[in-house]
Amino acid sequence: MVKCPDCGSENVYIDKKGYGLGKAAVGMVVAGPVGLLGGFLGSKKLKAQCLDCKWKWKI
Ligand SMILES: [Zn+2]
Repeated sequence: MVKCPDCGSENVYIDKKGYGLGKAAVGMVVAGPVGLLGGFLGSKKLKAQCLDCKWKWKI
């Protein structure tokens, strides 16, 4: 179970979709094909947000 690093709550939302593609698209704009590759390499990370204190972080 994921806990909020800020308040310790287990009431955490995890975004399992979209992060890799979105990051790759941004990388493509900023750094071209190399940025696109970097975006895909980073696609295993997930976004998490605490529903109690709204803290956001990557897991
Ligand atoms: Zn929290």
